[in-house]
Amino acid sequence: MPAGSGSTSRSHAAQRREPDAAFVLDVRSLGRRPGTMKELRRTAVAADRLGLEMIAVPEGAEVELDLRLQAVSEGVLVTGTVTAPTAGECSRCLEPFTDSQELYLTELFAYPDSATEQTTEDDEVYRLVDDTVDLEPVIIDQLGLELPLQPLCTPDCAGLCPECGVRMAIAGSDHGHEILDPRWAGLAKFAPESSGSAGPDTGAAEPDHQ
Ligand SMILES: [Zn+2]
Ligand SMILES: [Zn+2]
Repeated sequence: MPAGSGSTSRSHAAQRREPDAAFVLDVRSLGRRPGTMKELRRTAVAADRLGLEMIAVPEGAEVELDLRLQAVSEGVLVTGTVTAPTAGECSRCLEPFTDSQELYLTELFAYPDSATEQTTEDDEVYRLVDDTVDLEPVIIDQLGLELPLQPLCTPDCAGLCPECGVRMAIAGSDHGHEILDPRWAGLAKFAPESSGSAGPDTGAAEPDHQ
């Protein structure tokens, strides 16, 4: 490391967030005067898969941000909606399906020197870092709360036939199985005759018939 090449600012720069990274918003232009507001609409691309095991925002998905950034005394308040496509696997029929998820954000990002910053832990209130807001952890947290743990392809998914595993949506509502115990299967062909004990031909065995 050559001396005088600005090594102090360089090490700082190494931790600096890339302002045009998908969910990182540069809020420098907002200023610090409380009440100053800025609307922000942008399409961000998810660099990673975000969500749960069975359903998530896929990697590379286009996420719509429709946000309002507001300077408040303790930091920047971010409110608005985030709309993201989701891809999941139905927990009943196991088929892949796609959907979308809307998130409503109300999140304070504290200024580094604010009382909020000094009286809270990092995991309680988000921080502004280098005049940027990183929405990714907020979105991940919200998705964890909003996405279903047992996602369904349709609200009334009929699932799989418990007998043969066919998808009921394909098999139709009249799909079913006659449950036959294999020990009785060989006797099944005699069933119609032997079952009617009170039938009209019960008298056939009477000796006085002839
Ligand atoms: Zn399903
Ligand atoms: Zn079946």
